[in-house]
Amino acid sequence: MIDGRCLCGAVTVRLTHAPAELSACHCDMCRRWSGSVQMGLAMPVDAVQIAGSVKSYRSSSFSERAWCEVCGSALWLRNVEGPDVGTIELCPGLFDNAVGARLVREVYADRCPDGYRLAGDHPRISRADYERDHPFVEDAR
Ligand SMILES: [Zn+2]
Ligand SMILES: [Zn+2]
Repeated sequence: MIDGRCLCGAVTVRLTHAPAELSACHCDMCRRWSGSVQMGLAMPVDAVQIAGSVKSYRSSSFSERAWCEVCGSALWLRNVEGPDVGTIELCPGLFDNAVGARLVREVYADRCPDGYRLAGDHPRISRADYERDHPFVEDAR
């Protein structure tokens, strides 16, 4: 078991195993919600146990973002409709050393702010390429 927690400890997250891969997103919603770049560890929902006081925000027609009610730490992003409903994208900062996961994908890479870049040779997917294959509602807000 792998245990994670928010800043204050009011929310705990337990995983049955450590995901090996980490993805990053620079879309407008992820940037505003995370404060910079959103990273996620994708896990099947049935491999995750969550305890504590959690609030969530329906950030699009098909997804929600959750945080600790006490300290405000970002906890996860997940789809509540559509084909990815069984997956939860946990914030890597909940876990020591981000469970050792490696960055394997950067989406909305062409929307990364001018002042920083993520190092590495992982695939960088543009907004146009991402939205060709995935539902997205950034401009609908
Ligand atoms: Zn907390
Ligand atoms: Zn995003």
